[in-house]
Amino acid sequence: MKRKIVFPGSFDPITTGHVDIVKRALSFFDEIVLAIGVNSQKKYLFELETRKGWLKDVFADEPRITVDTYEGLTAHYCKKIESRFLLRGLRNSSDFDYEKTISQLNHIVGEGIETVFLISAPEFSHISSTIVREIIKGNGDASGLIPKEIKL
Ligand code: ADP
Repeated sequence: MKRKIVFPGSFDPITTGHVDIVKRALSFFDEIVLAIGVNSQKKYLFELETRKGWLKDVFADEPRITVDTYEGLTAHYCKKIESRFLLRGLRNSSDFDYEKTISQLNHIVGEGIETVFLISAPEFSHISSTIVREIIKGNGDASGLIPKEIKL
């Protein structure tokens, strides 16, 4: 059976930090599902279809990567698509504190789902979608922080 892992996120927008995590995870998982969580309470800068299109463009040459969207609990989505693993990136201790609780919850709700954490490479650890959005809103140049496929 193929080892499939879900990388859940908002990807608002995808950054070079996300890309690095995905590429590294490809060396030990057969398939990665990039799953955009849709939360009606949350305000996004970019439309869902735009974010989804970017993910597809960035990984167009990698057949082991698929892109999907989901509503509701991440653990329920994993069960639906029959994956027992979640992928997340850790940049700093704030990420760790937040991710630890979510991972423990997903383990309970998802009846044994394991979260695999990859520590951000030093050259990407300062990059976040939040920072990229701030630069874009301020009419700055974010091109060094996002994949070249993203045309703003
Ligand atoms: P969410 O809204 O669920 O936090 P994001 O799209 O912001 O979604 O992030 C998805 C995942 O990618 C999170 O685990 C986050 O820690 C990780 N991530 C974001 N930026 C980086 C980066 N520069 N290096 C490593 N991991 C990152």
